Amino acid sequence: MRIAVLALQGAFIEHEQMLQRLGVETFEVRQLKDWQQPKDGLILPGGESTVQMRLLKELGLFEPIRQAILNGLPVLGTCAGMILLSEGRLGTMDFHVRRNAYGRQLGSFHATGSIVGVGEAVPMTFIRAPYIEEVMSPDCHAIATIDGHIVAARQGNQLATAFHPELDDDMRLHRYFLEGIC
Ligand code: GLN
Repeated sequence: MRIAVLALQGAFIEHEQMLQRLGVETFEVRQLKDWQQPKDGLILPGGESTVQMRLLKELGLFEPIRQAILNGLPVLGTCAGMILLSEGRLGTMDFHVRRNAYGRQLGSFHATGSIVGVGEAVPMTFIRAPYIEEVMSPDCHAIATIDGHIVAARQGNQLATAFHPELDDDMRLHRYFLEGIC
């Protein structure tokens, strides 16, 4: 199995390390020719979604990535990556996000919660995180909530988290993503 990791900006190395620990090969996508390699899945990391959006468009990666996801390529988007999957950006998942939803004071915090399909007491690190304000299709399922806000969702081949699973030692979320591929 080979997983593409979008490596334009943000916390992509931590995802690569997590997948290495799980024995999965990764490669970095920095330009269109990287993207053209064979792949079984894609990770969209955290970072700054506005910067990532601009770079995706400038580099000609936006449409190819969108089409691949719509054609069924498994994708995991975390934090800014979740924002990229939402309505108005790549738009492949049917939800609206609120960016920087926890404000400046509470911008970064840690929680634990259960995630449908993943398990109980999963550690969740939030860094200037979004949450999902509204799910707009029955195909899109909220799979985790914290304080009444949706922080993870699944829609077919797509998985999104408002938190950073790659920053904790718990590998269950990545394992869950990989299990959906093979
Ligand atoms: N605040 C960032 C954004 O709006 C997301 C933060 C993150 O990915 N940790 O894009």
